[in-house]
Amino acid sequence: MSEKNSPRKADKIVAVKGMNDIMPPESAVWEALEARVRELMRRFSFENVRTPIVEPTSLFVRGLGEVTDIVEKEMYSFEDRLNGEALTLRPENTAGVVRAAVEHSMLYNGPKRLYYMGPMFRHERPQRGRYRQFHQIGAEALGFGGAEIDAEVILMAHMLWKELGLADIELQINSLGQPNERNSHRAALIQHFESHLDLLDEEAKRRLHLNPLRLLDSKNPGMQAVIESAPKLIDFLGDASREHLETVKKILDAHRVSYTVNPRLVRGMDYYNLTVFEFVTTKLGSQGTVCAGGRYDYLIEQIGGKPAPAVGWAMGVERVLELIKESGVALRQPGLDVFAVITDVANLQAVMPSLHVLREAGLSVQMQASTSEGMPSMKSQFKRADASGARFAFVFGPDELASGQVTVKSLRDSNVPQATLRIDEMATWAASLYPTV
Ligand code: ATP
Ligand code: MG
Repeated sequence: MSEKNSPRKADKIVAVKGMNDIMPPESAVWEALEARVRELMRRFSFENVRTPIVEPTSLFVRGLGEVTDIVEKEMYSFEDRLNGEALTLRPENTAGVVRAAVEHSMLYNGPKRLYYMGPMFRHERPQRGRYRQFHQIGAEALGFGGAEIDAEVILMAHMLWKELGLADIELQINSLGQPNERNSHRAALIQHFESHLDLLDEEAKRRLHLNPLRLLDSKNPGMQAVIESAPKLIDFLGDASREHLETVKKILDAHRVSYTVNPRLVRGMDYYNLTVFEFVTTKLGSQGTVCAGGRYDYLIEQIGGKPAPAVGWAMGVERVLELIKESGVALRQPGLDVFAVITDVANLQAVMPSLHVLREAGLSVQMQASTSEGMPSMKSQFKRADASGARFAFVFGPDELASGQVTVKSLRDSNVPQATLRIDEMATWAASLYPTV
């Protein structure tokens, strides 16, 4: 083709910064983790909810608090072009789940245990473990006031780490008390920081009178000393709040779950009260929190529902998967059972019903289909079969097909001799492959 007639190659379009494609083979590990989580949720009787990715902006402003990192600088907000409504890509999903539960009167007949999985969006500086589109798995127990449910949700996350074989995760817990206790702490905090104004950054100075608790979760290294010496909320707790924390600790002790009480632990949203907790690892650098949560007894009311207590957590899926990789844990995924090698393109259609039988029997089967160049050579098909990780290659050559048979070659165990199998006995063979199923 002459230069003049060739179409101009279009510029490549790439993904938005901080937003990642999840491609095979990594996506198989995602699926394996999700399957483990579903199984965990089943055992703890948490039911799945799927809420929209876009919510009214006011949900997060009201729910998370105006003077928070998320609401002040991390939300992807936009105006609906058609009706001017203020919308936001969800930065987290506790507020969304609560909105949905209230909207559908889900708590009308008593409390509910719910969970979700999905993407969240925050405009942050992308780095390891910190993305602009990331994924959370979250559990929310709505309508429960007692400390035992705080412990139950913590035990649930702990069980997941154990089942995944992740050992380097520390549980930190704290209590944020109740609003009135926070008020006296707030006054003490303001006094403390006012006497060290020279040590505060501009953001901290601005937030000091708006929301002084937020200064405590500043990530500015230069402010850590003044944060460290600040009055601790835990010293302002009344008896009931203390008792609540002690009960959570007692239940964790009874389950031999170790934890440390970290009086500096505050969370990034205003909705939390009483128990807050984080699961932290030292293996992921500064993005070490893999799961975080706490009690939020006033959020439901704030979003317009009938007052009801609640507790929950959200884990960062990318961080958990990174830790799985760091720890050398292999998340076992059922692999391919059969790779079908088919010598002649003319035989493809005749072979397909046999492969169908294998799949009906529960096996995972990849067929060598024709490409734009026709059928690859036998040699290259065998290479593909090896690379596929399949347990067996099924060879459908002209001789085999003529005699109603297939040659079965073990690809993972060279001690297993090659064998032939009658095509009409394939279902029985397939059933014998996984005798426990
Ligand atoms: P951090 O202090 O790391 O910013 P956070 O307090 O903002 O975390 P939460 O809002 O509590 O995080 O979200 C729960 C979990 O979701 C975090 O512990 C983390 O594992 C994960 N997470 C939060 N933000 C991101 C992000 N931008 N990229 C990847 N994972 C994230
Ligand atoms: Mg954050």
